[in-house]
Amino acid sequence: MSDSIRGVLLDIEGTTSSISFVYDVMFPFARKHFADYLEKHWDSDPVQDAVSMLVQDDKDWNAPELLLAEFDDGHDPELYRAGVVKCLLRLMDNDIKATGLKKIQGLVWQEGFTSGEMVAHVYGDVRPAIEAWKATGKDVRIYSSGSIHAQKLFFEHSVAGDMLPLFSGHYDTTTGPKKDAGSYRQIAEAFGLPADEILFVSDIVDELDAATEAGMRAVLSIRPGNKPVENSDRYQAVNSFTDIKVG
Ligand SMILES: [Mg+2]
Repeated sequence: MSDSIRGVLLDIEGTTSSISFVYDVMFPFARKHFADYLEKHWDSDPVQDAVSMLVQDDKDWNAPELLLAEFDDGHDPELYRAGVVKCLLRLMDNDIKATGLKKIQGLVWQEGFTSGEMVAHVYGDVRPAIEAWKATGKDVRIYSSGSIHAQKLFFEHSVAGDMLPLFSGHYDTTTGPKKDAGSYRQIAEAFGLPADEILFVSDIVDELDAATEAGMRAVLSIRPGNKPVENSDRYQAVNSFTDIKVG
């Protein structure tokens, strides 16, 4: 198989990086900094855009997690801002991926990464392996459920330095769900390669199934802290990128 691989598509959480970094560092960082970030940047366009999205979601869903309207008496901006923070935390508590929440999380993470307060986790074997693949002409890209914006911030500010120049493409769920073969067909097209010349690496078997249904090759990533995998014997399983042979 190794002769014909010309593209490598990588998942992030559980593959290039530990799942716990996202859950134990990035999410708590967002929760901790919502209030001071909004206070500092309240009048900025991105924050006001994100708040408008929350207001719209509140109208559309009438969800108890939002209820932004209950804080909007129109008279006390500080009270309203505190209400927005409360809504953001409630959305996170309930694991609701509202667009306004994602946008504000992205802004807070951007400040955290660019200030150096947060440094993205990447396993030690990842950068050298990608550099070796690049040296033999492989095209390496990322597909993650985190937004493209967040992916770029993440790899630009990683423990292995700025890794962004290593990647020639980024895909998120705007291309489609990660367990849907159609997403991988679209990505293969974007690579400009036949699907069977692309190797996808992920920790989730359902994603590997979708990728192989689309014609890609697939390798299962086993990392510390990943969920135990059942039914994994159909795929080569690796504990390190060093074990991935792409020729
Ligand atoms: Mg993953």
